[in-house]
Amino acid sequence: MAAHFLLSPLCRTLSIAEVARMSEEEAWRAFCRIRWAATGGDPVCPRCQGMVHYTRSARRRWICKSCGYEFSVTAGTILADRKMSFGDLLLAIFLFVNAVKGLPALQLSREVGCDYKVAFVLLHKLRECLEAEQARHLLGGEGTECETDTAYFGGYSKPANHQDNRRDLRLAENRTGKRQCVVVVRQRTGGTSTAVIPGESAAPAFVRRKVERGGVIHADEGAAFDELHARYVMARINHEEAYSKDGACTNQAESFFSRIRRAEVGIHHHIAGLYLRRYAAEMSWREDLRATDNSRLTSEVMALTMRRGHSVDWRGYWRRRQHAA
Ligand SMILES: [Zn+2]
Repeated sequence: MAAHFLLSPLCRTLSIAEVARMSEEEAWRAFCRIRWAATGGDPVCPRCQGMVHYTRSARRRWICKSCGYEFSVTAGTILADRKMSFGDLLLAIFLFVNAVKGLPALQLSREVGCDYKVAFVLLHKLRECLEAEQARHLLGGEGTECETDTAYFGGYSKPANHQDNRRDLRLAENRTGKRQCVVVVRQRTGGTSTAVIPGESAAPAFVRRKVERGGVIHADEGAAFDELHARYVMARINHEEAYSKDGACTNQAESFFSRIRRAEVGIHHHIAGLYLRRYAAEMSWREDLRATDNSRLTSEVMALTMRRGHSVDWRGYWRRRQHAA
């Protein structure tokens, strides 16, 4: 059997020592080369696309000669309000991609030496980029095989101390309503798409939106998936009988859920309902690129941050919370 990819030297093309040895100038140039790949890292004005600039090299900023706009390499991107140096940013992205089961904000704040709030917001911004990237996937089509499934996450309720006070959380009336349903579609040749939906019955609508006709869709015995028979060739597996039978199997969808489950239980401990879809997208991105070396993963995430505009949710997040208090 082939060695696991993460055990092979192919996965480790960049080390923490190499990243830490980079100077601020080198890290900054790396961001410039990625943002302006077409010009070899030479700045292009984000406002007028002009290329002639006065430079303010001490502050790593430029002034556009055509329109007068002063900008930095992160201007107009999700990292525009960055609190970190470019060296620390690159290190944080490197640590994020290396953490195959996810990276806690507390750990990142200690490893990079930044405030917890800065680490928390940066990680959410990275997830926002990954979510946008994953949303671009269109799956299915002629000759493809996809697996779909649903699972519930979040909404932990602490059991009462005394037995008499404990409630049966399996009963609908005792649920907090914070547990949310995640639906996944995984194409067997690659490509994972996720969403948070109100309940299992909403899963077929997501599948129809994401998966083109022409291929086979594998699903379990859940009645919600019955309506997909009208549109797709379906392979159903009854998990009470077997995990794989007559060519039907949803093990890849299940293994994806176990990845989120481990991230929820072992890494984040609590995933706030509002952001569950972003965590799901993060894990689907990790799943899709699990056989990619860490140097390329770092560049991929840097490129996504350079392409993504200001964050709606996270720009000035702590400042807004302070004012609201
Ligand atoms: Zn300009």
